[in-house]
Amino acid sequence: MEKWLVGVDLGGTTTKFAFLNTYGEILHKWEIPTDTNNKGKNIIINIAKSIDEKLEELDQPKEKLAGVGMGAPGPVDMSKGIIYEAVNLGWESNYPLKDLLEVETNLPAIIDNDANCAALGEMWKGAGNGSKDTICVTLGTGVGGGIIANGQIVHGVKGAGGEIGHITVVPENGAPCNCGKTGCLETVASATGVVRLAKEAMNSTDLPSVLREKISSSENITSKDIFDAAKDNDELALKVVDQLGFYLGLALANLGNAMNPENIVIGGGVSKAGDILLDHVKGYFKKFAFPTVAASTSLAIASLGNDAGVIGAAWLVKTLK
Ligand SMILES: [Zn+2]
Repeated sequence: MEKWLVGVDLGGTTTKFAFLNTYGEILHKWEIPTDTNNKGKNIIINIAKSIDEKLEELDQPKEKLAGVGMGAPGPVDMSKGIIYEAVNLGWESNYPLKDLLEVETNLPAIIDNDANCAALGEMWKGAGNGSKDTICVTLGTGVGGGIIANGQIVHGVKGAGGEIGHITVVPENGAPCNCGKTGCLETVASATGVVRLAKEAMNSTDLPSVLREKISSSENITSKDIFDAAKDNDELALKVVDQLGFYLGLALANLGNAMNPENIVIGGGVSKAGDILLDHVKGYFKKFAFPTVAASTSLAIASLGNDAGVIGAAWLVKTLK
C-alpha cells in the first residue's frame, strides 16, 4: 500500500493540514480554526480528530498514514520534541509537543519551527529546486527564516538558528522589535515595517505621493499599496522599496557570505510584490556579497505560497526512521 504523509502547519488562528504522497504531491488539504482557549489544551486533540475525520471521509484506514510532521510557531528542540515558547497558543514553556502528538494521533510524529518547515517545503518542491543548500526568508506579519545546509535545518543550541528577522540592519536609532531589540530586519521588512518606512519617508521628505492622499483621507495603507504605487513610478514609494531592498539585500548578502547557499528564497505576503521587490534586493545583494557568492547564489521569490509549511512538515515525516 502506498503510504501518505501528513503535514500540519499550526498557526495562532488556523491549523492547515495536507495528505501528501511520498513524492511531495498534495492529495488533500484542509484547515480548521486553532482553539487557543484553556491554555491551548484542545489544540492537539482537535488535530488528531481532524485527521481521523478526514480519513473517514476519504474511506481510508489509519494504516494509510506513515506519520505526521508539524510546523509550530516558536523555537523548537527537535530531538527532544519540545517547543520552548509558544505564547500565541497559550502553552506553557517546554511543551512536549511531539509526545502529545504521538499519543493523540497514534502516529509517529516529528516537529519543527514553522519557518523552518516553510524553508523545507520551498527546498523540496518550490523555488529551492531541491537544493540541499537553501535559505528561506518569509516576509509576513513578522519576518521568519530557515537555513538549510547540507540538507539539514540549522537549529543552533536553543532552536533559534535561522532567526533571520532579528538580524540587526539599523544599528542606531532603529525601531523597537517584538523581540526586545531595536533595528531588526523585521522592523523594516515585515508588512508593518514597510508601512512604517513609508510613513517615515512622508514625514522626512517632500516627495509627492499618492500614498499621502490615502493617509490624509485617513485610510490605512498596506505594503501592497506601496508596491502598487512604486510600480506606477510613485517617487516616494520607489524610495521606500529601494530602502527595503537595501536592508534585505544587506542581510541576505551577509548570510550568503556565511553560507554560500545555492538559493535564497523570499516568501510571505510582502513577497507577492514580485519582480519589483526582487530587482531591488538583487541590486544590493550583488553589492554586498563576496564576489563568488554574488556569482553562485541565486535569489528567487517563493513559489508555494501558503502550502510551503504543510509540504515541509510532510517532508520531515520522510526523515523518520
Ligand atoms: Zn527582533
